[in-house]
Amino acid sequence: MGNMVTGPSRLWRCPVRVRHNPARAIMTDPWTPERIAALESLWDVGLSTREIGLKLGITKNAVVGKAHRLGLSKRNAPVAEPPPVAQLVRLEALGAGMCCWPDGEPGTPEFRFCGEPSLVDKPYCAEHCERAYVRGGKDTSNTVAA
Ligand SMILES: [Zn+2]
Repeated sequence: MGNMVTGPSRLWRCPVRVRHNPARAIMTDPWTPERIAALESLWDVGLSTREIGLKLGITKNAVVGKAHRLGLSKRNAPVAEPPPVAQLVRLEALGAGMCCWPDGEPGTPEFRFCGEPSLVDKPYCAEHCERAYVRGGKDTSNTVAA
């Protein structure tokens, strides 16, 4: 395509006429359904793009490009740190070891989770464990029915 021939060999013509042929382009597309399936499973397994390329007989760049087009998640990207909004912990940001006591009305923008470090083997922090496991609860004003 961009190979400009310069100098005396300018008159040389390739014996094979290469035309842009959509049907041919599809046939030469390395991404057969089998390869795509293989890419997806190898990607899931966690192989590097280079290893996947070697297995499929294609370049690493082709693997990267196809994975991008397929919307496969980036694995090697560092995990995005949630913004430091300590007072507003949402479900997406709620990790293991964090109090998942719901606060507010589910579905509203104010709804959040406590997010304090939870007690070992408990889903809640000390304060909310008290509220969750207290018998005959003294504070039932905002208790979520289990
Ligand atoms: Zn809590």
